[in-house]
Amino acid sequence: MEAISYWVHKRAFITPDRVALISDQSIYTYFTLSVKIQQKAAFLQNHLQLQKGDRVAILSQNREEYMISYFAIAQLGLVAVPLNIRLTAPELAFQVKDSGATTILYEEETMDLYQEICDHVNFVNAYDFTQPIMYSEESITEVAVDVANDPYVICYTSGTTGRPKGAVLTQANMFWNALNNQYAIDITSADNVIVLLPLFHIGGMGLFAFPAILAGGTVVIPGKFNPGDAIEKIQAYEISIVMGVPTIHDAIRRHPLFETANFDSVRWFYSGGAPCPNELIQAYLDRGLPFGQGMGMTETAPTIFMLSKEDYKRKVGSIGKPVMFCDIAIVDDNGNQVRNGEIGELLIKGPHVMKEYWGLPDKTKEAIQHGWFYSGDLMRQDEEGFVYVAGRKKDMIISGGENIYPLEIEQILKELPQINEAAVIGVQDEKWGEVPIGFISFNKKENLTEEEMKAFCSTRLAKYKVPKQIIILTELPKNATGKIDKKSLRHYVISR
Ligand code: ATP
Repeated sequence: MEAISYWVHKRAFITPDRVALISDQSIYTYFTLSVKIQQKAAFLQNHLQLQKGDRVAILSQNREEYMISYFAIAQLGLVAVPLNIRLTAPELAFQVKDSGATTILYEEETMDLYQEICDHVNFVNAYDFTQPIMYSEESITEVAVDVANDPYVICYTSGTTGRPKGAVLTQANMFWNALNNQYAIDITSADNVIVLLPLFHIGGMGLFAFPAILAGGTVVIPGKFNPGDAIEKIQAYEISIVMGVPTIHDAIRRHPLFETANFDSVRWFYSGGAPCPNELIQAYLDRGLPFGQGMGMTETAPTIFMLSKEDYKRKVGSIGKPVMFCDIAIVDDNGNQVRNGEIGELLIKGPHVMKEYWGLPDKTKEAIQHGWFYSGDLMRQDEEGFVYVAGRKKDMIISGGENIYPLEIEQILKELPQINEAAVIGVQDEKWGEVPIGFISFNKKENLTEEEMKAFCSTRLAKYKVPKQIIILTELPKNATGKIDKKSLRHYVISR
């Protein structure tokens, strides 16, 4: 198999004039993108003297150079370490040190953050990767890349369940993810996709920037996310697929332009990365827009599930069925498959599953056993094979011997239109071992009493699942990828 940069170079030969990439600054055809990638590769190899296997960190918001660098890095067998610019300098310094990156590619806007990182790490060379490059593509020495085994990218997981781990993905993992997405939602050269997720996250790369390039389609890369700008670009560039996390889709539907915008070109709004409230899905469906959920994770490059066009209306709330080249099992604590309707842990097997956790052989052995990746996510499957997320294993609460899945309670709380965000955690209890308590934030100016919220839960949930206490916050704490940070909520309870 060829390095993934080959996708662009081959397209530059087959369909040179087709538009590949549109950013806020430029438009690239496959031909011009291919030239830019070669020049960037020449710069990395000749000027920075980087050699196969060297780790190159990237500290940038979404911009064209990010995509160009990803492909140049692939061509040379280098290893990209995309850094989450919402993290603090000490958190990023950990990732730079842990990955052994010796070079950071940054942009002017992240210069201050880069300098702060340097207070914590030594000997990191830095280059503003937006500067023009004088290197000719002819000066590249070809590099033999073993795409199935050589690390290509080290993506640090968001750390919602512990210290961030570097998931090592190969170029083959990216290829299979691209193919799985293509088969799942028929991505073709006619598709224009918009990248609203950060490119430092596997979601930004894999959903659907890389699959669209493999298919010969067009990738639109706006800068920082802004719902009004996204709506305008969707219309201006006739975007056909809009991928986002629930907070992105929520911001879009709450924007004043949402009701009147012309979304005729969009054949899919897709949500993943976190549980998507049914009420949000319904808001899109009521507007006549196709909206489905998928599910994935960093370690699987990322896609595991996608809801199909045949089913999105009748299976609201499901993440769909596993994609083409991906096997799943849902098992109990003894490793036996659970029956339909029962909750168990999701295991995944497929060519898109990561190679390892960087420098953590014990964690890798724990996570991948007999070829199956243990996700830590809890799922249930209906009689037709559609899968529903039940929560995360580490979040599960055991109260008086009964299992309680926080997600179920969170979804009930979010049925109240006044509630904006909801999170449930378990706290120690002398009598029951653990009991659930809730945290919520209201939509603007809305209000309900704790008793009213508990009373609502009592009409929908067994008594032991009703939160013993519901704490009202102005906003729930989030981690750097925008997910609710349950670790902070636990600290909040302990410190009170
Ligand atoms: P860490 O692994 O450090 O705890 P993280 O799990 O948040 O961080 P990611 O790889 O960014 O790291 O997120 C993957 C997780 O997001 C999945 O394991 C799952 O729990 C959750 N997730 C993804 N898609 C969905 C979805 N459609 N519905 C519910 N949860 C989802």
